[in-house]
Amino acid sequence: MISVRDGQNRILDRVTKIVSPELLPVTDALDRVLAEDVRAPFDVPPSDNSAVDGYAVRNDDVPAHGTRDLTVTADLPAGSVYDGALAAGQAIRIMTGAPMPAGAGTVYPQEIVERQDARVRIPTLDKGANVRGRGEDITSGMTVVEAGVPLRPQEIGLLTSLGLVQVLAHSRPRVALLSTGDEVAEPGTVRKPGQIYDSNRFTLRGSITRCGGEVIDLGIVPDRREALRARLLDAASMAEVVVSSGGVSVGVYDLVKDVLEEIGGIEFWQVAMQPGRPLAMGSIGPAHFFGLPGNPVASMLAFMLFVRPAIHKLAGRRQLFPATFHARADEAMRKKTGRREFKRGVLHYAPEEAAWHVRTTGPQGSGILRSMVVGNCLVILDEERGDVAPGELVEVEPF
Ligand code: AMP
Ligand code: MG
Repeated sequence: MISVRDGQNRILDRVTKIVSPELLPVTDALDRVLAEDVRAPFDVPPSDNSAVDGYAVRNDDVPAHGTRDLTVTADLPAGSVYDGALAAGQAIRIMTGAPMPAGAGTVYPQEIVERQDARVRIPTLDKGANVRGRGEDITSGMTVVEAGVPLRPQEIGLLTSLGLVQVLAHSRPRVALLSTGDEVAEPGTVRKPGQIYDSNRFTLRGSITRCGGEVIDLGIVPDRREALRARLLDAASMAEVVVSSGGVSVGVYDLVKDVLEEIGGIEFWQVAMQPGRPLAMGSIGPAHFFGLPGNPVASMLAFMLFVRPAIHKLAGRRQLFPATFHARADEAMRKKTGRREFKRGVLHYAPEEAAWHVRTTGPQGSGILRSMVVGNCLVILDEERGDVAPGELVEVEPF
């Protein structure tokens, strides 16, 4: 038996070659991983500008007390630049975002002044008020998005605010996916007695896409040696990662092990975890291979623990594991020491205690896929831990 952490480390040690980067239009870069640091080519904002609609005045003209009357000499909409300089006793009507005219240092919001024809009466105010400084958001040369970060809408917006139209991002690792088992039927076809519809391939398709991989779906392979060998070789020839589910336990028809010993380098692991103990890990030619367990919860969980960080690493991501949090257990939970257990939980906020709480979704069998649907998080109970009493803190990973 190896621990979850050891398994993860061994897998990540093997993933040494990151997929190559490509130049992409920013409009296609959502969720891609940035391959180089992006530095700002100029200050943002590029010049001092007004934070409000109002009147720009010289700091010397701001009255220390009482009011002062100034002459409004120009009207400055956003996007235009005043090419003169502001003289003493003058004010310029200015719109939000318009660059500050030379000589002006303070902006009066229009709500606090009195305007009469070409005169404006201003009260006292802090000098420099309502001015956004040049470079106050970003200074030229500073790294605004770092290599290894997946691009969210806000990163893309930030890049385009700097005038960029292309980014260097890693391509999506290709992940070939197949289900094994004579009992597994394709949804949409007629199910023969004794058959179940495939679910693993569909939870895994979504999981692969969500973590940045590109799915190559190779369907269902029957429990026949030659068919499995051919499909796996095929898979390895077209993808960086091959993922299968089922066929890794010790039954007579669990052929993944035998076939992989012939065509690749494979280790079979008993991971000290529940659910999802048996797992095959290795390579077929240059492709990384993951043989996930057949039970639906186990295969999804094994994916989260072992395949997702590998895909993230291949895709050039710096952060390989999701953040976890702590919550109070609503109920007692059985836990065996010596292995890591993962329960499906419902995380909820208790406002009267100002604290996050978690309860399990009920029966935790590794075939009960509904527990993943009803739940909104994993409850992670470490190896050393024994039974959990109500009120104790437990680690949670939101889905
Ligand atoms: P196995 O390890 O192949 O014996 O599979 C373990 C259990 O998982 C069996 O009950 C299988 O029917 C089930 N199973 C295997 N593959 C799938 C799949 N693709 N979708 C849903 N259940 C599966
Ligand atoms: Mg099977």
